[in-house]
Amino acid sequence: MRASLFALALVLAAPAAAQQQDFSTVEIKVERLAPGVAVLFGSGGNIGLSYGGDGNVIVDDQFAPLTDKIAAAIAALDPDPVRFVINTHWHFDHTGGNENFGRGGAVILAHDNVRARMSTEQFIAALKLKVPPSPSGALPVVTFDEGVTLHINGDTLHVVHVANAHTDGDSLVHWAKADVLHMGDTFFHGASFPFIDLSSGGSIDGVIAAAGKGLEMAGPNTRIIPGHGPVATRKDLAAYRDMLVDIRGKVAAAIAAKRTLEQVKASAPAARYGMADGFIKPDQFIETVYESLRNPPKKTPPHSHGGESHSH
Ligand SMILES: [Zn+2]
Repeated sequence: MRASLFALALVLAAPAAAQQQDFSTVEIKVERLAPGVAVLFGSGGNIGLSYGGDGNVIVDDQFAPLTDKIAAAIAALDPDPVRFVINTHWHFDHTGGNENFGRGGAVILAHDNVRARMSTEQFIAALKLKVPPSPSGALPVVTFDEGVTLHINGDTLHVVHVANAHTDGDSLVHWAKADVLHMGDTFFHGASFPFIDLSSGGSIDGVIAAAGKGLEMAGPNTRIIPGHGPVATRKDLAAYRDMLVDIRGKVAAAIAAKRTLEQVKASAPAARYGMADGFIKPDQFIETVYESLRNPPKKTPPHSHGGESHSH
């Protein structure tokens, strides 16, 4: 258990660990999904890209040492500068390039809680990891509560907040015309159970709701970009949601029957899904679901609307 958490910490690569990680060997791979839309794979969260004459928009930006490679991969598709960066959530493997792209002239957008968490020291309990505040140039400049819409490159990008899912600041991004959906880390596709950051306001019920929201936004042919893993179909997302609902149901029943965490783990409610060597192991996931159901996130999120103390 301890060893696997340690491995997870390494994979997630905190800013400190990120400096130790050898980014020189990372290659940015590009997959085109539709006219004007691509996904970039490197190290860290998958990057969505909108291009096509009005300026480039990226969804997440991995780690700072990769910015030049990411910019080169984007320039090969479209020489325009990056005008907007949308962060799906605050984690450093999705926001590490913010300061560089911001310096290059991009406007950074994210949910209110992304800015709030990046502005102050964070502690990711599952990883026993302290994350220092980000420099001011890395912070989102435009923040929103429910969502925001970008009209660019001949398409409409709907950015929609989903509450208390992977964190308390997640957004999904849907390209209406190109029919592409970026799920951020509410969707881990393929090799691992999802990481749910309970200490950042995440919850199993929120991740299930986010998957449901994604299914609602997607059509039968939507190309779906997960936070981590290969591009998926609507069917893949539905199977993921069903898996989460199944495991959640079994853990909830066990809690109702007063089973201890050790007893729940022993009954192996996630075993049939394999992924024993994934980034998040079955037992870690069970532990997270158990804890999430016993301590659901509080109703009041950590973001407060500054001086707007008047009620409305
Ligand atoms: Zn994340």
